Amino acid sequence: MKRYDGKVAIVTGAASGIGRATAHRLASEGARVCLIDLDQDALTAAAPGGDHMTHPCNIADEAQVEAAVAAVVARYGRIDALANNAGVICDKEPITSNSIEMWHKVLGVNLIGLAMMLKHTARVMVGQGSGAIVNTASVAGIRSGAGGNAYSASKAGVINLTMTAACDLGGQGVRVNAVCPGLIETGMTRFVFDYARDAGKEAKLGSRCELRRYGRPEEIAAAIAFLASEDASYITGQALPVDGGNTAS
Ligand code: NAD
Repeated sequence: MKRYDGKVAIVTGAASGIGRATAHRLASEGARVCLIDLDQDALTAAAPGGDHMTHPCNIADEAQVEAAVAAVVARYGRIDALANNAGVICDKEPITSNSIEMWHKVLGVNLIGLAMMLKHTARVMVGQGSGAIVNTASVAGIRSGAGGNAYSASKAGVINLTMTAACDLGGQGVRVNAVCPGLIETGMTRFVFDYARDAGKEAKLGSRCELRRYGRPEEIAAAIAFLASEDASYITGQALPVDGGNTAS
C-alpha cells in the first residue's frame, strides 16, 4: 500500500523545477495528480506516467483557478492534497528602483494567485471534511538578502497566510503548511547557476548553507509529499525550511 493510494493531488507550477518533481513524487506514491501550469505543451512534456490530468491555468486569474479546480473535481470527484507551488521571481534591485508593475506581477502570482488556489481548493476540502495544502514559500520570506523586495515580501505573505488559513480551516479537517526552500537548481534560478559557473564560482553557491551545497527539486518534493500526507496528520500552520541549514546560521 502506497502513501497516496486512492488520493487526488493538484500541483501548480508543475511544468518545471520543484512542481514537476512534486508531481512525479506524488504520482510515484500512488496519487492521481492534476498538473497545473501556464502552458499545455510544457505540461504534456512534464507529466508523469499513470492516471493524471493536465490543466493550463494562470493562477493569477481567479476565474481560471475556479475552472481548474472544478475540472479536477469533475474528473476525480475529490481533492486530497494541493501543492500550491507556482511562482515567479523578480530582479534583485533596490526599493528605489522597483516599479509598481513589478510589485503587482509578483504579488499577483506568488501571493494572490496562491491564495486563490488555496481558496477554491479549500472549499472542496471543507466539503469533504479533509485535505492538506502545502504552500511553497522560501527562505526569502524568513530572512532578508535572499530575494528581491517584492519576491521576499510575497513569500513572507505566504508564510503568514499559511498560519491564518490553518486557523480558518483546522476545525474543518483541512491542514495548511508551507515549505521554505533554500537555493534549488531549477528554471527559476538557472541564471544564478549560469552566472556562477561562467565565473568559476559554482562552489560558492553551496557555501550559503550549513550542508555546503545547494538543493535538488526532489528534496523539496519529498518535504511537500510528507506535509501533505497522513504522516503529518498533527502538523498544521507551520513553515518548514528545507534549506540545508541556511536559516540556522
Ligand atoms: P520554476 O521556474 O522552475 O517553476 C515555476 C513554475 O511556475 C513554472 O513552470 C511557471 O510556468 C509556473 N508559473 C509561473 N507563473 C504562473 C502562473 N501565473 N500560473 C501558473 N503557473 C505559473 O521555479 P521553481 O524553482 O521550481 O519554483 C517553484 C516554487 O519554489 C516557486 O514558488 C518559487 O518561488 C519557490 N522557490 C524556489 C527556490 C529555488 O531556489 N528554485 C527557492 C525558494 C522558493
